[in-house]
Amino acid sequence: MSLALPLEPSRRGACPSLDMPMQTGDGLLARIRIAGGQLDPVRLEQLAVLGGTYGNGVIEITARGNLQVRGLTAALAPAFASAVRQVIDVETGLVVETPPLAGDDPLEFIDPRPLAASIKALAAPFAHRLGPKVAVIVDGNGQIGLGALKADLRLVAVGPDIWLVSVGATLLGTTRRPLDCAGVVLTALASLGLQGRATDLPLADLAPELDDLVSSSAPVRQPVSSPIGRFPMHRGKATGLGLPFGAMACESIAALADGAWRSGISAFRPGPHHSLIAIGGDGSLIEEASQIGFITHPNDPRTRISACIGSDGCASGHIAARAVASRLAPSLAPGSNLHVSGCQKGCAHPGRAEVTLIGRADGYGLVIDGRAGDTPRAVLRADQLETALLAAQG
Ligand code: SF4
Repeated sequence: MSLALPLEPSRRGACPSLDMPMQTGDGLLARIRIAGGQLDPVRLEQLAVLGGTYGNGVIEITARGNLQVRGLTAALAPAFASAVRQVIDVETGLVVETPPLAGDDPLEFIDPRPLAASIKALAAPFAHRLGPKVAVIVDGNGQIGLGALKADLRLVAVGPDIWLVSVGATLLGTTRRPLDCAGVVLTALASLGLQGRATDLPLADLAPELDDLVSSSAPVRQPVSSPIGRFPMHRGKATGLGLPFGAMACESIAALADGAWRSGISAFRPGPHHSLIAIGGDGSLIEEASQIGFITHPNDPRTRISACIGSDGCASGHIAARAVASRLAPSLAPGSNLHVSGCQKGCAHPGRAEVTLIGRADGYGLVIDGRAGDTPRAVLRADQLETALLAAQG
């Protein structure tokens, strides 16, 4: 199989995939969307081996719950894509996301997967005209919600047959005809072309069509729930683990998958906020996962730190960002968040953070309540970081 030319990261709407990896500072980055959202322990171990063979030895799980492998070369990326497809089926087309426990969650109002499948089928004839970053979320409102993720169209169940509809950040109201709403919104998005996102949609122009479908509703804020911990399912329990800074060594992933059989785990599902959800089992995996290095407690401060690979694997990095982040984690106050970036590009966290430390040729830039690209208020030495972090948190 041949691949298209690598994506340039600066292109608006660019989105890496297995077949169209993106050029980054540390080689090509391939993002893998697992069809059906889960894989058994054997396949997870096989993917980890492939990541180590073809990539930089690290598997990432993104904030949206996709697998990523970095450090691919243009020469080997096609062989990697082919090898991955021999292990798993890869999802393509419009991104329609459901929570990782969808269908197994006794607290969700409704299994959102049938509606998600219908939306994907509805959009199939014109999906090639939707931008690659267009995302639809269909959420049954159970234990692990997707409320913190951005979506062009969001449908959240608030009853067995009633859904909150949001377009971008705008809550439109409730509907009992979610598929019709999706048809109106996605058709309008497709008319904008491959660059079109929900923020570009003139919602007033859609009002005549949506008025018959949507009733006004008071603003509802979906609680953001941690994917880390033990969760009851209709049958058995699930165990949510976190990847520190969204990444784990391939050997560590393989070790987890290898041990999963002993704990009775039947499958793994990548989840939001860099999590990996183990399905089934008696909970004994938690101790083993903790020893391997996974996050097993929702209050672990590393869940509130973003860090890229930095100089450990990126030519642009001035600091080993994840090593610095690990060192600073014990100094992070409860509720605070930190971004440690290898350089001012801020790949791991494009948004604002309470404290951002940026690797520079002359030290560590310190930004308070801003982004990695902002002008730092001070440049620090390595031995000043803990003190500066504590001072910034008051
Ligand atoms: S932010 Fe990190 S990953 Fe991105 S270019 Fe800079 S060092 Fe590399």
